[in-house]
Amino acid sequence: MKHDFNANEIVNVYSTEDDLMYNQILELKHESGSHSPSINTIRERLPKLQFKVDACFLSNPYATNLFMEYFQTEVVNTGRLREILEFYPSQMSVIAKKLGKALGVSSKNIFVGNGAIEPIQAVIHNFVKKRILVNIPTFSSYYEFVREDVQVVYNRLLPDNDFEISIDNLVEIITTNEIDSLVLINPNNPDGSYLCKDKITDLLERLRHLETIIIDESFVHFAYESDELEPISFIDMVNYFPNLVVVKSMSKDFGIAGLRAGYAVMRESRVTRLSERGYLWNVNGLAEYFFDLYTKEDFLSEYDKLRKRYIAETKDFYKELSRINGIKTHPTRANFILIELLNGMLADEFVFRMLVRYGVYTRTCSDKIGLGNKYVRVASRGKEENARIIEAFKGMLGE
Ligand SMILES: *Cc1c(COP(=O)(O)O)cnc(C)c1O
Repeated sequence: MKHDFNANEIVNVYSTEDDLMYNQILELKHESGSHSPSINTIRERLPKLQFKVDACFLSNPYATNLFMEYFQTEVVNTGRLREILEFYPSQMSVIAKKLGKALGVSSKNIFVGNGAIEPIQAVIHNFVKKRILVNIPTFSSYYEFVREDVQVVYNRLLPDNDFEISIDNLVEIITTNEIDSLVLINPNNPDGSYLCKDKITDLLERLRHLETIIIDESFVHFAYESDELEPISFIDMVNYFPNLVVVKSMSKDFGIAGLRAGYAVMRESRVTRLSERGYLWNVNGLAEYFFDLYTKEDFLSEYDKLRKRYIAETKDFYKELSRINGIKTHPTRANFILIELLNGMLADEFVFRMLVRYGVYTRTCSDKIGLGNKYVRVASRGKEENARIIEAFKGMLGE
C-alpha cells in the first residue's frame, strides 16, 4: 500500500502534505484490523497532525471529568495512589459483593471483568455451544471471539428500517437455523438502534429454550424510554431467565476505558463455573477504586446530572447533523450517530480527509460487516467539540 510521494504531482484540492498524512493514516488503518487506530497511535506516527476532536471513541467526557475530580481528591491528594499501586487489589468475588449492593442483585450473579471484553470472551468461550446469532452491523468481538467449532449466523439489519430488529423475524431465523445462542446489543453499536423493554421481554419469553442470550447494555446509560431519561436494564431478570447474560462496560458511559472496568450478570452456576477456573485478581486496583465510587450516592447523583445533560446535548447534536445536506443520519438512543454519506465519497476517504483537514476524528465503518463502505459513526462530545464536528462536516460537504 506504499504511495510514492512526488511534490510536483498535485492533482486535487488537498495540499501535498495533507495527502502524505492521509496516506499514512490509511496505512495505519490497514494495520488495525476491525478496530480503528487509536489517537495515540496516530499521534505517534503523524506528529504534525493537528488533532482537535476525537469523535471516534464513544465516551461521555463529562463523566471522565467527574471521575478525575474524585480521583484527584480521594486518591492522589491523600496518598492512596501508592497503596493502590503497591498492593494487590481485592479478589474478584470481593469486588462483586460491593457491586451487588449498588446494583441490587446478588453478588453470586456477578462476574466482574477487566473491561466488559473479559466477561464477553469468557461467556462466548464457555456458554456458546453450537450456533450463535449475531445482528449486523455489530461490535466485532461477538463474532471474532467464538470458538472454532461454533458457527456464527448473521442477521442483517437494514438501513431502510433504521436498523431496527424485528422480533418475529429474529425468532423465525433462530428456529429455522437451530440457533442456540443470541447476542443483542442494546442500544446497538454502531447504529444506535434500540429495542424497548416490552419487546425484549417478549423475545426472552419466546426464547427460553436457548442456551445463552447475551444482552450487552454497554450504552444503556445513554438510552431512555420516557422524558425522565431513566435507563432500563435487564440485570435483575437473570434468575427469571436463566439463559440470560447481561454485559456492561463502564468504558463509554463513565468515560474510563483506560481503567478497564466491566461486568456481566448471569445465573449463579455460571459465575461459579468461571471463577473456579481462574479470574482471581482480574480487576486492577484503579478499577476497584472506580467500583467503590460506583456504589456511592454522592458520586452517582452527580454522575446522573451529567448523564442527563450529555443526553440533552447529544439530542441537539443529532438535530444539527441531520440538517446538513449530503448525509443521512439514523435515529439513535446511544451517544453516537451513524451517518450515511450521500455525496459519493467513500467512508475511509471522508474520515481520514476530515481528520487531516479539520483535526476531527470519526469512525469509518468500512470494516463493519453488514454495512457498505459509505457509513461513518460519529460520537457526541461536549458542546464545544460538537460544534467543531458540525463545522468539519459542513466543510467536507461544501456547506
Ligand atoms: C466498547 C464495547 C465493549 C467493550 O468494553 P470494555 O469494557 O472497554 O472492554 C463491549 N461491548 C460493546 C457493545 C462495546 O461497544
